[in-house]
Order: sequence, then structure tokens, then C-alpha cells
Amino acid sequence: MARLVMKFGGTSVADIDRIRNVAHHVKREVDAGHEVAVVVSAMAGKTNELVAWCRAASPMHDAREYDAVVAAGEQVTSGLLAITLEGMGIDARSWQGWQLPILTSDAHASARILDINGAELIKRFKERKQVAVISGFQGIHKDTGRITTLGRGGSDTSAVAIAAAIQADRCDIYTDVDGVYTTDPRVVPRARRMDKIAFEEMLEFASLGAKVLQVRSVELGMVHKVKIFVRSSFDKPEDIDPHGTPPGTLICDEEDIVEQQVVTGIAFSKDEAQISVRHVPDRPGIAAAIFGPLAEASINVDMIVQNVSADNATTDLTFTVPASDYQRSLDVLGKSKSAIGFDRIDGATDVAKVSVIGIGMRSHAGVAADAFKALAGRNINIRAITTSEIKFSVLIDAAYTELAVRTLHSLYGLDK
Ligand code: ADP
Ligand code: ASP
Ligand code: MG
Repeated sequence: MARLVMKFGGTSVADIDRIRNVAHHVKREVDAGHEVAVVVSAMAGKTNELVAWCRAASPMHDAREYDAVVAAGEQVTSGLLAITLEGMGIDARSWQGWQLPILTSDAHASARILDINGAELIKRFKERKQVAVISGFQGIHKDTGRITTLGRGGSDTSAVAIAAAIQADRCDIYTDVDGVYTTDPRVVPRARRMDKIAFEEMLEFASLGAKVLQVRSVELGMVHKVKIFVRSSFDKPEDIDPHGTPPGTLICDEEDIVEQQVVTGIAFSKDEAQISVRHVPDRPGIAAAIFGPLAEASINVDMIVQNVSADNATTDLTFTVPASDYQRSLDVLGKSKSAIGFDRIDGATDVAKVSVIGIGMRSHAGVAADAFKALAGRNINIRAITTSEIKFSVLIDAAYTELAVRTLHSLYGLDK
């Protein structure tokens, strides 16, 4: 007997037939004698619809009310799955974030989970084998009691946090692909599924654009040592061998990976915007004058490139921000124009960041140089570069994203 968290994403619960399929997966585990907590997302497309309604009601809406609206998608799915399970003769009930409760910070729309009370769930597992069906993505602020949400893709984080709270043996993330691939299999059909990936690498994949797991879910898994397994919800429940290992990817410690490649995979993100601040005075304090106001506005700056001044007087400073913060960044910088003393700002939103990830890069030189050569061979211009111990990223024109990803995927021998 094991204690399991099973998380199902939006595509996996997109309609009543798929919810019924999910219920059969849950039944399979219940029949095998396991204690089960299920975490569900909103039905595919619902969260986008709710977000759009908030924007239509008022572009400058209160984030607390936004959370009250967008958390509703998950409430519908948890109720529907509990109804379906009950219809199949399985003892089940739905739980909203405020009912457990899942206590969070007050950062509405991107709240952090602070504490989850799993005692009642465990009691019900023990007393009556009841299946808990929990709405992902939502919680309540610990002081105000207002509904919060965890940021897009946040149901992954709900699932891992619940797994930690109830000391689950495993957290299975059921999604519309059967694991974590060397890159997005929708873009590169020759991408390979990995049997295992280290937490550190998965963190990079998630933060650099692979949306298969939300970054915070990986962070939490790493800290609380949760066994996270990514697998497909589209496998037929009746075809799964209860004693075998299904196809999927285990997120594990680096030491548990026997054959380490230099490059593990490629991630990309089109959610980038480039800002170049032209002719800023080349003197101490300029970076602080530019990035201070952006930080105060909670805008995350990513790649930063600054040239050494040619004339000892002025220089250009280029950096990237999330595309959704582009206009706000321009407004913030515009207000600080006299304090910074720049000449003009150039910007672009048709850019993409392509990243190469691999723990093996720590001990191998020349990995990035090979990529620059291969991209040049395809006539792809690099606008900016950043590197760290286990990854490097290049900023390129968005139109070349797929070509760049495929080129690098082949270059590092990742094609199947
Ligand atoms: P869910 O709705 O189940 O949470 P998501 O759409 O959030 O699913 O995440 C799954 C998607 O992530 C896949 O459909 C795939 O296109 C995308 N993806 C991006 N990079 C990768 C990768 N390296 N491996 C697997 N999937 C990836
Ligand atoms: N429904 C939320 C979203 O679409 C949370 C999730 O699916 O993980 O972002
Ligand atoms: Mg997701």
C-alpha cells in the first residue's frame, strides 16, 4: 500500500469523457490498495477564458478579485471528478483551497504556499479510504482569508506541496505528453523522452520555458524530496500493468543518474521582450538607476548586456523582460529618463530565448562555442548571450526559434 498524489492538467480533464478516463486512472490505484489524493486543473481553456473576462471587465482590475474569478475553473473540475468517482462507487469528496486549508502569501496571482494541513485527508484515508479531490492552483491568504492563486501552471505546485504535506510516496503528474523530453516534442518530433532528469536540470528546463512543470513545483520537490513522476493521462487505464513501470520521467537527484550527457536538452521561450537603453552615461550608479525602478515595479529582468564605452562617456545597455511586462517597463523607464540620462529606448517583442541545458557543461569547455558556430551556419543572428554553470541562453529573432531549436537538438546528438 502506498500513498499517492495524482495530478491531472487541463487537457486531461478537458471534457466529461476525459474526466471519466481520469476517474478510471484513480480507480486503478484505489483498487491496487493505495491511498489517493487527486489534484486537478481547470478544464482546458477555462483559465484563459476567466482571465480574459477579468481583462474585459477592467484592464486595471484588483488582483484579489482576479484570483476570486480565475480560481473558479478548478472548483468546477474537482466537483465533477468527485461526482464521477462517486458514480463509480468510490468514496470521494472535493476540497477547495480554503477548505483544507492551503495557506499562502498575499502575492495575489502568484502566491506562494506557506502551509497545508493534511491531517484531515490522512484521517479520511485511514478511516474510510476516501479519495480526496483537490482543486489545484488556489489557496487562501493566511491573514485575510482571501482566495489566492499560484500563477499560471500552478496546479503542479499544489500537487507537489500536497505530496509533501501528506508524506506521499509519489507525486504522479499526468499530462498530455508521456514524460519530459529533450525538448518540446511538439516542436521537434525527434525529441527523446528521458527516463530520469536531475532536479537542477528540471529547474532550468522549467524556468527557461518548458511548461511541462511549473518552476515552483520543482523547487518544492527538491526541498521536500518528493518523488515526482511525469506521465501521460492518455494511456488507457486498463492497459497499465499494475506491477510494471509505465512510460514516464522521474525527477531525481543528480547522483541517481548513471549516464550523464554533456547536454541534456533544449528549452525555449517566446515570452521575451528586448529593451535597449541608448547612450546612457558610463558612470557608477547607472545600472542601479535603470534596474532599481524596474525591480520596484516587480519586473523580472533576465539577460543583461552592457558594452564597454568606446568614448569613455556613454554606452548602451540591453536587457530582456517578460513580454507581458514590456509596456510597463517602457513606462517605468520613461518616468526615470532624467535620473538615468539616456538618449532613447529601442525595443523589440519579436524575440525568443533558446537555452541549452546540461549538468555535464560544468566540466566541459566549448559547448557554447559549438552552438554559436551552428547558429551562424544557419544565418541566425544572436542578439544577446547569457551563461551559467549548467546552461547558456541566446536571444534571437522569434521567427528563427524552431530552426534554432532543431539545429541545436541535432548538434548535441539529442535526435532519436
Ligand atoms: P498540463 O495542462 O497537463 O499542465 P501543460 O500544457 O502545462 O500540461 O504542459 C505540457 C506541455 O509542455 C506539453 O504538451 C508540451 O508541449 C510542453 N513541453 C515543453 N517542453 C517540454 C519538454 N521538454 N518535455 C515535455 N513537454 C514539454
Ligand atoms: N488552470 C491553471 C492554468 O491554466 C493552473 C494549471 O493548469 O496548472 O494556469
Ligand atoms: Mg501545466
